[in-house]
Amino acid sequence: MSDITFKGWAGSKVENPTTHLTLKEFTPKHFDATDVDVAVRYCGICYTDIGSYEGELGGIVEDRVCGHEVVGEVRRVGDDVKDLHVGDIVGIGAQTDSCGECEWCKSDQENLCSTKALTFGGQYIKGPSKGHPIAGGFANYWRGPAHFAVKVPDSLDPASSAPLLCGGVTVFSPLKKYGAGPGKRVGVIGLGGLGHMAVLIAKAMGSEVTVLSRGAAKKDDALALGATEYIGTGSDLAADFKGHTDSLDIIICTINPASLPIDQYISLLRPRGTIVLVGIVPAPLQVPTFPLIFKQLAVAGSVIGSPAEIRELFELIAKHPNAAPWVNKYRFEDMNKAMEDFGAGKAKYRLVVVNEENGGKL
Ligand SMILES: [Zn+2]
Ligand SMILES: [Zn+2]
Repeated sequence: MSDITFKGWAGSKVENPTTHLTLKEFTPKHFDATDVDVAVRYCGICYTDIGSYEGELGGIVEDRVCGHEVVGEVRRVGDDVKDLHVGDIVGIGAQTDSCGECEWCKSDQENLCSTKALTFGGQYIKGPSKGHPIAGGFANYWRGPAHFAVKVPDSLDPASSAPLLCGGVTVFSPLKKYGAGPGKRVGVIGLGGLGHMAVLIAKAMGSEVTVLSRGAAKKDDALALGATEYIGTGSDLAADFKGHTDSLDIIICTINPASLPIDQYISLLRPRGTIVLVGIVPAPLQVPTFPLIFKQLAVAGSVIGSPAEIRELFELIAKHPNAAPWVNKYRFEDMNKAMEDFGAGKAKYRLVVVNEENGGKL
């Protein structure tokens, strides 16, 4: 299978790179004995892809190919790869490589490795292709270390598994770390791609879920996703939160506002509760210390997860098929339309591009 022509949706130095992507041939990394080639069937669109194409992450790189919620079929396996085989369905998330030697890499926490290579905008860090730009899943084929390709269980729908690889594990990892489960109440701020997965996953873990979102527009969806409570927010959070103080154990904040009134949000936490930011808030947080100390609260951050956590999340969703992300599918050929609709907020709640040539199903 070494005669594959790799083609991907490349960004370039145009005014609006995210809706002017061009399908181009590209040179993949050298095929190492630890690599696999994957025929891409599905790839989710994440906000970071837009940021990467638009140059927020490492500047605009000519012919960069993004896409980091990749699901496809293994077509070629390096000689040193033991646990993957031709024909396996695998998923690759936001991380493509890591050093493999540090304390984090050796304890299944590769996402904390200081030399990790990200699938969007990163460079390969080892072997003959060191420094070569990483190509993501908005392509016909993905090539990279088998260590970061996680087998998708047969019982999972491969299309709706794609968003679990970045967005899903980004919310699953802190939910697990801070103890989501039966008897725990989880709040989710924002009902977009990440927020909707946080609701589905927290519910699957056995928690009761409250959604906090602007106005009432998303109330029906929140309840359909499994939330038991919905708090519509407006310009006066103190009034909106009346009657809800001390009600949540974990809050997952998925929004990206210019600034966050964290004093209001932590009033919702029960003693020993944790608020976890998974979105970027540019302004520094003004955390009031009085409730922090007396209620023993914690303010935390998190993003992505390790291959082991992705594997665990796949197993959780395999047991709770109703917790699979809600996806809208677009043909691979309609990549620019998909990006445009994603940018316009039309995702309900994650867009997935489908490569029918490789066996993807619309
Ligand atoms: Zn992402
Ligand atoms: Zn490392």
